[in-house]
Amino acid sequence: MKGQLHRREFIASALAAASIPFLGAHLTGEPARPPLPKPLGFALVGLGNLSTNQLAPALQRTANCRLAGIVTGTPAKAAAWQRRYGLPDRSVYSYETMARLAENRDIDVVYVVTPNALHAEHTIAAVRAGKHVLCEKPMEVSVARCEAMIDAARTAGVQLAIGYRCQFEPYHLECVRLAREEVFGELRVIEASFGFPIGNPAQWRLVRALSGGGPLMDVGIYALQTARMLAGSEPLEVSAVQTNTDPAKFRDIEQSVTFTLAFPGGVAAHCSTSYAEGMNAFTAYAERGSFGMRPAYSYGGNRAWRSDGATLAFPPIDQFAAELDDFAECITSGRRTRVPGEEGLRDVRVMMAAYAAARTGTVVRLAGR
Ligand code: NDP
Repeated sequence: MKGQLHRREFIASALAAASIPFLGAHLTGEPARPPLPKPLGFALVGLGNLSTNQLAPALQRTANCRLAGIVTGTPAKAAAWQRRYGLPDRSVYSYETMARLAENRDIDVVYVVTPNALHAEHTIAAVRAGKHVLCEKPMEVSVARCEAMIDAARTAGVQLAIGYRCQFEPYHLECVRLAREEVFGELRVIEASFGFPIGNPAQWRLVRALSGGGPLMDVGIYALQTARMLAGSEPLEVSAVQTNTDPAKFRDIEQSVTFTLAFPGGVAAHCSTSYAEGMNAFTAYAERGSFGMRPAYSYGGNRAWRSDGATLAFPPIDQFAAELDDFAECITSGRRTRVPGEEGLRDVRVMMAAYAAARTGTVVRLAGR
C-alpha cells in the first residue's frame, strides 16, 4: 500500500509538471509554439550518420533553430558541409579549436553527436565556451563523467539536455498518459525490447573504449527509458544476464543483454537488447488491460495499440525537430528542459548497475525514488 501511494503521488506531480501540454499541441497538427523572433544557431559536433541523415535535415524542419556551425575532425566533410549549408569559414571548428566557439555569436547551442566516450570531453569544451549543449544518448560511459558534465554546465550557467527523442514522440507520451492516469488500472509489468543485427565489425560501437558497452548503451537505453517513463519512478533493483553467440565479433562488448528492473509499488520491467536480433516493441500490462507500441523506437512509423481496441492515431512528426525546437524554446524562455543531464545520469547509473549485475550474477540494489 505504501508503495502504491508513493507511485500515485509521483503520478500527480509528474502530470502537473511534465509533457502533456506539448502532446496536446502536436495532436492537433499545429506548431507547438509560435516562432521565436530569431532562430537559435546550432553547431553539430561529429558529422557521422546521425548528424548527416537525421539532425541536419531536421534542423531545416524546425521553427526555431538553424544550422550555424560544425565541429569535425575530417576536413573533407567540412568542405562538403560548407557548400551544402552555406556555412562561413569562421563557423567551422575542429575538436582542438572548440574553445574558440566562445567568440562566435551565431552559435547558441552545441549538439554533441560523437561516440559515447567522447561526450564529456566535447560537452565540457562547449559549455566552457558559454554554449548550451544538447548531447546524444547515452550521456556518457560512467556515472563520474556524467556528473562532471552536469557540474560543468552548472558552473557555466548553461542548459544541458540529452537527446531522448522518444520523450517528444506523441505515441510514447500517450502511453505515459495511459500509465500515469491509470486508464487500465495500476501498472503491473512492462516488457520492452530494442535490438538490431549490427553490421560493420570495425565500427566504434564494438570498441568498449569508445562505446562504453554494447547494445545496452546504444539501444537498450530506449527500453530502460520506456520502463522508467511508464513506471513513473526509479528502479529499486536490477538483475541481468548477458549472452554471446559470436565471441569473435563481440570480444570487447556484450552481444545481448536481458535485464529486469523492480520498481516501487511492485511494478516489474523485463527488458532485452541485442546486436544480433531485430526487436522494437513494448507492452505494458495493467490491472484491467494492456497497451503498447510496435514498432516503438523507429524514427518514423511508430504505432501504438490498446487492449480495448480504441484507435490511437497521431499526425507524424519529426522527433528530432520536436526535440530541437523544444530545447530552443527552453533556452529562450528560461524553462528547464524535460530531458536534463540529470535524466541522462539516471539511465547511466542503472545501466552500470545492470552490467555489474550481469558480471557478478547478483541482484544489484539502487536508490529508487
Ligand atoms: P557515427 O560513427 O556515424 O559518427 C560519429 C562521428 O563522430 C564520426 O563521423 C566522426 O565525425 C566523429 N568522431 C570523432 N572522434 C571519433 C572517433 N574516435 N571514432 C569515430 N568517430 C569519431 O556515429 P552515429 O552518428 O551513429 O552516433 C553518434 C552518437 O549519436 C552516438 O552517441 C550515438 O549513440 C548517438 N545516436 C543517437 C541516435 C538517436 O536516435 N538519438 C541514433 C544514432 C546515434 P567527424 O569525421 O566529423 O569528426
